[in-house]
Amino acid sequence: MPTSEDSQHDLFQDAITRLTTAAALSEIEDEAVQRLRHPKAILEVSIPIRMDDGTLRVFTGYRVRHDDTRGPTKGGIRYHPDVNLSEVKALAFWMTCKCAVVGIPYGGAKGGVIVNPKELSPLELERLSRGFIDQIADFIGPETDVPAPDVYTNARIMGWMMDEFSKLRRQRTPAVITGKPVSLGGSLGRDDATGRGAYFCIKELERLRKWQPREIRVAIQGFGNAGQHVAQLLHNDGYRIVAVSDSRGGVYRPEGFDIASLIQAKNETRQVKAVYCDGSVCEAVKADTISNEDLLELDVDLLIPAAMENQITADNAANIKAPVIVEIANGPTTSDGDAVLVAKNTLVVPDILANAGGVTVSYFEWVQNKAGYYWPLEEVHTKLHAIMVREFNAIYELMLKKSIDMRTAAYVHALNRIGEAIEAQGTSRYFSNEIAK
Ligand code: NAD
Repeated sequence: MPTSEDSQHDLFQDAITRLTTAAALSEIEDEAVQRLRHPKAILEVSIPIRMDDGTLRVFTGYRVRHDDTRGPTKGGIRYHPDVNLSEVKALAFWMTCKCAVVGIPYGGAKGGVIVNPKELSPLELERLSRGFIDQIADFIGPETDVPAPDVYTNARIMGWMMDEFSKLRRQRTPAVITGKPVSLGGSLGRDDATGRGAYFCIKELERLRKWQPREIRVAIQGFGNAGQHVAQLLHNDGYRIVAVSDSRGGVYRPEGFDIASLIQAKNETRQVKAVYCDGSVCEAVKADTISNEDLLELDVDLLIPAAMENQITADNAANIKAPVIVEIANGPTTSDGDAVLVAKNTLVVPDILANAGGVTVSYFEWVQNKAGYYWPLEEVHTKLHAIMVREFNAIYELMLKKSIDMRTAAYVHALNRIGEAIEAQGTSRYFSNEIAK
């Protein structure tokens, strides 16, 4: 059986495998690739928290800054019992690539705390969030490293974290963190930005593949922030959302679901339920219950993993029937699972493109915080749309031009930009006079 050390090793190694493959096809120099194999800085902290019953618990947290050549590092903070250093390193690496994919001036970072937040009271959660910031305050800042929400962290938690950092600095510092409540300097449109960015990618696929939304059956794994928003946007356009799931399992109905009703039920009961709601009255609709594993293998036209990493692996990739996958979760497909999908010509819009709407609007939030001038929602949507469409098409064309899969094309696109920035600082070719100064 693999030890936890082994599995920790694997996730970051998996990310590096992809780096190596894509680097061979891009214009990046070997030396730049060598730098990307090593995160710039890693911080591990202990967070002692007084629990409501008077006892003390010490939590472990991490913050990894992967690369800051293109700008301050950027990346979410995750609360989850399975958080480990290798996962945080891999997620930080993906953030470096993701920011380069969409061309925003950031490097990559990530943070995480080993905790099951569902077991904490609201006050314990606040103490933990402030305690984590107390421990990492010297490591982050508006010009160095800017955190954001990730799995099981949300706008309220970002608000506490910004407030704690501001207290330590004795200066109101909204630009230290993004994904805050709008009343504390958050951007309009940040709440649904990840789902909306993925939706814009799907709309480009619709145009390219001449899809009729009503004919497209969609399955979504994960019904949290990102999953709910993409479901609602697609449903509004007539797409048939036939299956959704959360950590406890899912529901399947070939005729499709009314998404607003599912969201209402999830908010009220914290469970995915097959219902139709008229106002506050919800009635059960006929549907099958399915496991998360079954959802992935459904006969659908579009599969959207929007939960956790490592869901599509060498063990189940061959059984996946969807011809198109749009990855909203970070790292839902392992590299050996990916090889199976590529071999059977499944089109995968990769995470570093499909879920980049979140970090793009986080960038808009940071810009607005620094300027002290806030944009209307329409402006956020228009600017996000322009970036997603531009980068989706650049990557799609690169895929066709080089006859490679879309994930590799996205990495090549990112590495070209990162490589250009690293090379602008000088590499051994420059210092050994191989190229003109
Ligand atoms: P969230 O905490 O709001 O929701 C996560 C959802 O996944 C919940 O419905 C949870 O029940 C479900 N889930 C957890 N474990 C599961 C499992 N094993 N199988 C099926 N469902 C499971 O998180 P989110 O913000 O929606 O993030 C979801 C994914 O999208 C993550 O991989 C995250 O890294 C990625 N992502 C989120 C953002 C963002 O801005 N929210 C940005 C980029 C990427």
